[in-house]
Amino acid sequence: MSNKMFDFDIETLGEAKISSPIRMSRNNGDGMADYVSDEDRILYSVQTHEEDGVRKPLLDDTMEEAGPREKIYFNPSHVHAAICTCGGICPGLNNVIRAVVRCFWYRYGVRRISGIQYGYLGLLENSSWPLIPLDPDVVDDIQEKGGTILGSARGGGKQVEEIVDSLERLNINILITIGGDGTLRGAYDIGEEIKRRGLKIAVVGVPKTIDNDLSFIDSSFGFDTAVASAVPSVRGAHVEAKNSINGIGLVKVMGRESGYIAAHTSLAQSDVNFCLIPESPFDLDGPNGLLEHVKRRILERGHAVILVAEGAGQEFAPPTGETDASGNIKYHDIGIFLKEKLKSYFKDEGIPTSIKYIDPSYIIRSAPANSYDSIYCARLGAHAVHAAMAGKTQCLVSRVNNQFVYLPIKQAVSKRSHVDIEGTLWRDVLENTRQPFSMKN
Ligand code: ATP
Ligand code: MG
Repeated sequence: MSNKMFDFDIETLGEAKISSPIRMSRNNGDGMADYVSDEDRILYSVQTHEEDGVRKPLLDDTMEEAGPREKIYFNPSHVHAAICTCGGICPGLNNVIRAVVRCFWYRYGVRRISGIQYGYLGLLENSSWPLIPLDPDVVDDIQEKGGTILGSARGGGKQVEEIVDSLERLNINILITIGGDGTLRGAYDIGEEIKRRGLKIAVVGVPKTIDNDLSFIDSSFGFDTAVASAVPSVRGAHVEAKNSINGIGLVKVMGRESGYIAAHTSLAQSDVNFCLIPESPFDLDGPNGLLEHVKRRILERGHAVILVAEGAGQEFAPPTGETDASGNIKYHDIGIFLKEKLKSYFKDEGIPTSIKYIDPSYIIRSAPANSYDSIYCARLGAHAVHAAMAGKTQCLVSRVNNQFVYLPIKQAVSKRSHVDIEGTLWRDVLENTRQPFSMKN
């Protein structure tokens, strides 16, 4: 009996019949790795179970391996490829753009590559931002800088018909989108409209989420840099706290719905005493509330460090009711809220404290990618190009179990990834911070 849970089949525009211009080892003996076939698949889950005395994979689901195909769909001389970056900025965007351009140019010989400015807004009919012609010279050293040379924006992604009109008008037949869940949903809808019109335009996503909250991906690009950039803030908060009488260092990091950055930063810099994430709701007051625990820590040790993810404790304030241009709900600033709460609590308790609040969010987002992410982005970008050239569409590039794979966008956005508070990551965080498992009364 098959034990499949997911649909990991990739859509294509049609049969790939053109021989790839990429030469592999068996053609010229240059020692390069071989082509990857659509039949090369890896297991999604590495978990096993025992059946009739034999160890077997727990799930039968397999994913298509990423990489260059021997036969491609597009004739490189007919390709007009476009790249856009949407949503918030994240370390590594420029690295992905660079890798995409270089792979199209050097490996496939594609000469028409355009950058779309400000995400999907740049594809709207009345866009005032022209396409930016891209080639290896233009992207030569962009990886040195944070952000994206194309600019990024929210909004516009739901005007699907207008976007597809623009793709048709500009003769774009490959669209590479680099963005988060919203961008991917937009890319999927664009792909659906393309299908409805019977067009042959490939849409391939490179998933970007600094929060690392996308499912079916080991870890998203920029995440490692984000954690590395958050560490100095925690270090600073700890030094400040330790050097003051009853010092409290409070740091806020990104993580709207998932607390991965906070959890990993706590492990990277073991100075954190309280790591607060959206997945683990807590009380402020009462004998098991946060304030009481911080007081105990202050009385025992004379200082405390609190690391809070932006999405934690949102229930403490009424919803803002505001949304951004993409429809995302605007959050309360939990950092400022906690700072005020701690201040008034310790004042009422008659305990003098000194609270230092650090919010490094924009510094983290805008940092250039570190070496780990640079390598990762270089490979993601190239794999996105291989998928598109082979005519794969409405898919994204991911790394699962340390292997690069292609995934249907529809499946990837079907659920978010959260820190499992009963899982090993959170257990390790709790062992490090020594905070209670629950701060609910
Ligand atoms: P992040 O939130 O990590 O910064 P994101 O890709 O989720 O990245 P958003 O601003 O939410 O960022 O969305 C980016 C683009 O995707 C916007 O142009 C937006 O209009 C479009 N978009 C957002 N949600 C949807 C949706 N549900 N369907 C179609 N398009 C969407
Ligand atoms: Mg989003």
